[in-house]
Amino acid sequence: MRGRDILVPMPVTMDTLVSLCKRRGFIFQSSEIYGGTGSCYDYGPLGVELKQNIKRLLWRDFVQSRADMVGIDASILMHPTVWKASGHLDHFTDPMVDCRECKLRFRADDVDTLPWTHYCPATKGNKFTIPPGEPCSHCGARRTLCPDCGKGLLTAPRQFNLMFKTFMGPVEEDASVAYLRPETAQAMFVNFDNVLQSMRMKLPFGIAQAGRSFRNEITPGNFIFRTREFEQMEIEYFVNPRDTVEGRPADEYWHDRWIADCMAWFQRYGLREENLKLREHDKDELSHYSKRTVDIDYRFPIGWSELMGIANRTDFDLKQHAKFSGKSLTYFDEERKEHVVPYVVEPAMGVDRALLAFMADAYVEEEVRGEKRVVLRFHPELAPVKVAVLPLLKKRDEIVRRARAIRADLAKQWRVVYDDTAAIGRLYRRQDEVGTPYCVTVDVQTVGDSEKGEAGDGKVTIRDRDSMEQARVPIDALPAVFHELLSGGAWAQVAARYPAAK
Ligand code: ATP
Repeated sequence: MRGRDILVPMPVTMDTLVSLCKRRGFIFQSSEIYGGTGSCYDYGPLGVELKQNIKRLLWRDFVQSRADMVGIDASILMHPTVWKASGHLDHFTDPMVDCRECKLRFRADDVDTLPWTHYCPATKGNKFTIPPGEPCSHCGARRTLCPDCGKGLLTAPRQFNLMFKTFMGPVEEDASVAYLRPETAQAMFVNFDNVLQSMRMKLPFGIAQAGRSFRNEITPGNFIFRTREFEQMEIEYFVNPRDTVEGRPADEYWHDRWIADCMAWFQRYGLREENLKLREHDKDELSHYSKRTVDIDYRFPIGWSELMGIANRTDFDLKQHAKFSGKSLTYFDEERKEHVVPYVVEPAMGVDRALLAFMADAYVEEEVRGEKRVVLRFHPELAPVKVAVLPLLKKRDEIVRRARAIRADLAKQWRVVYDDTAAIGRLYRRQDEVGTPYCVTVDVQTVGDSEKGEAGDGKVTIRDRDSMEQARVPIDALPAVFHELLSGGAWAQVAARYPAAK
């Protein structure tokens, strides 16, 4: 490809992503000027665009385009009995241990995966930090005390509920306890009958919701991978357990369909096949409600970890809510003339984890003419900014005026920015680094030179982010060309139609 010597895609580190996110306005530490709030993050001007694009595409592909899907947007605070019925009050816990000295709290199953602090008796009490699971190389001791301070005994494991508790109304008493929802799923079960009746749905059908969830994670971390406040998009897909599809029980058939559809969705928007894999939950790992759960794992910078889960929750949730509310949550099967409790298949996706995966997979460092070029090769539909309009000379009023007018016109349809704060090479690199698929430059040739009596050609240069190739396109044709390019059209075809001057 033109002007490019080497292409070096590399497994990006978390530190590189964190620093890029801050520097270029994707993600900031929450309340940073006050020293930050642990594991809370704010999406900046580019991050919010990227996140909205992810949610919009999820909604378009899994709800809007499907006749068997509808959506809801439920309240975060729900009736407290919801969490009794769902099992969250009794089961949504992690075993944790506390240090009796420094009071730090750890997940019991994490303690031996952390590096540990050791005051070694064989070296007059010198302090060492020893890798996880290894003994001290001087005295051979293994960790028994707090991994962090190295001094305190740890308590026996205790179950810690991960739900955030609050109070509804002015009185802080047991009767007014409420919880911030730890998942969005329960609102779909609680509204099952409302949606069924109001929309006259027929099985199989699904209800989707995208929104915030809250978990008081004991060990949040790894940037936006595990936070205490995050966004999910969950789908509850209800099927008639008495039906069969292609000779298989309907719930099992639809479970596999959703697994395949979700895998295909991530790949469609840029995650590479070799960075994705399915992980089947073992029987002893399955949640109490699940017949089968499969995770889609992604090769994050921290290693292979869960990107989303797809569970067959059977009729557990509807039956529980029917039991606790006293309301019937069944479906009338016209054919068999009987009421059934549907089974449900649940694809549950973390929007923030998806964003982290899309960023990690898009990140590429290249060497172009001896210089490093950082590119986020986002799929055009994900890219926070679709087009940057750049004037070649900011001192020429006519060039600036024309460039601003082009931005305003294209911005009616897409997120388009104007930038004249550096020389063109710098401006291109900036846009590459935030994943803008196309730049438009307005130059002297575009506008001509009235003093010399030279007319402009009314054309601008479009530069393609990935190939760095250019095309020369009439200004009038820009909306149609970007429509083509941003909805999947090939750059090569546009470049062939509008060749750039050599
Ligand atoms: P994990 O095992 O990583 O704690 P989980 O199995 O508890 O996740 P689910 O309850 O299945 O997660 O939630 C569905 C999705 O929501 C997860 O696959 C993940 O993408 C996202 N998610 C869950 N917890 C968090 C969190 N604390 N921070 C960010 N995303 C999360």
